[in-house]
Amino acid sequence: MSHLVDRAAAVIPGGVNSPVRAFRSVGRDPIFAAKAKGCIITTTEGKELTDLCLSFGPMILGHAHPAVVDAIQVAAAKGTSYAITTETEIQIAELITEAIPAIDKIRLVNSGTEAVMTALRLARGATGRTKILKFSGCYHGHTDSMLVQAGSGVAGIAAASSAGVTAACAHDTLVAPYNDFEAVSQLVAEHGADLAAIVTEPIAANMGIVSPEPKFLLHLREAADACGALLIFDEVITGFRLTFGGYSNLCRVKPDLTCLGKIIGGGMPIGALGGRKEIMDQLAPDGPVYQAGTLSGNPISVACGMKTLHVLRELNPYESLETRAAQLVTGIEAIHRGAGVPICLPREGHMFSIFFCETPPRNFDDVMATDKEMFPPFFGKMLEAGIYLPPSPFETSFLSIAHDDAAIERILDAWEQSIV
Ligand code: PLP
Repeated sequence: MSHLVDRAAAVIPGGVNSPVRAFRSVGRDPIFAAKAKGCIITTTEGKELTDLCLSFGPMILGHAHPAVVDAIQVAAAKGTSYAITTETEIQIAELITEAIPAIDKIRLVNSGTEAVMTALRLARGATGRTKILKFSGCYHGHTDSMLVQAGSGVAGIAAASSAGVTAACAHDTLVAPYNDFEAVSQLVAEHGADLAAIVTEPIAANMGIVSPEPKFLLHLREAADACGALLIFDEVITGFRLTFGGYSNLCRVKPDLTCLGKIIGGGMPIGALGGRKEIMDQLAPDGPVYQAGTLSGNPISVACGMKTLHVLRELNPYESLETRAAQLVTGIEAIHRGAGVPICLPREGHMFSIFFCETPPRNFDDVMATDKEMFPPFFGKMLEAGIYLPPSPFETSFLSIAHDDAAIERILDAWEQSIV
């Protein structure tokens, strides 16, 4: 394998096309995938790994689901891109707008990053304002204004967290701690007249899982309404994750705009932003906010996403996924009690994360205070034992409908071996 590491590093920056894949957070050489089927990834070395990363979330049906593969093949045989609107784009838009009451109209793009980037531009265009409020530890893709961080634990104007992001750009982004009602109220009192949008993951899933406290999302809705800003839910992870629709279907808070990705593409590149008709109509060509894309609404991505959504609607697997995840988490907790090693496994539906600590974090500072050093050796042992966890202590683990009893048993067995 090391020859692939060297070859990749010679021609691809860091040897990867997205940084987490380099395994730097777990201090070892990356693996290389050869193929995947169901809940198993096979590496180029022929090692079979039970996959808890699932491409960071899209593969809710497992890898290479036969109906999805078939839909891709049928679509590909008809041509891979026209840049002319197809009926299937209308169908997927109808499907999503029916499933998510917060969305009247939807525009397809090519990634979650593009969805958020466009939603922010739209919010600025629709309100005529400049500033965006986000929460530390939430990830919204790598658009400039979201690559910012707060000073440690301090709410307010952000600093760039990547070289190449201008100070002006960071200056237009405000950052508050997740679940901090008071910080939101204060920032809105101070900057409300300039605030275009409050953007949040309705369940934070990019610092591990941090659930919103009761009424936190409602507080955001009220704060946005109070100053005339828009509320954006970034549902790139939560969309079609916990129910056939968005988390907004469940939490009874209606955002003005919703960003989607991952599951709606079923593993092909896609993103989408949707929301209230009068806001969405501000997009070009009807409105003044420009957005475009050669491959937007690509027929293969749409066919793959739509088949994934059809299978989800038909199977309605959410309850059984949740039961299986609860069974797994309960089993892991029992192992840790036996071993006397503290662990918190916050879970929402079939996604969960691993914190080596006594009480579940409620914001990013709490996450940073957990014992992160324990994760890399644990990850390595799990990998040796045939389990692929997301390769960072801050990523979320997912189950798919392909994770059967045998897979859960394999994970628990490996866990027991790895935690000592
Ligand atoms: N928003 C959230 C909540 C995400 O988790 C991600 C990616 O993990 C993104 C946006 C960016 O999506 P993409 O990687 O498709 O650009």
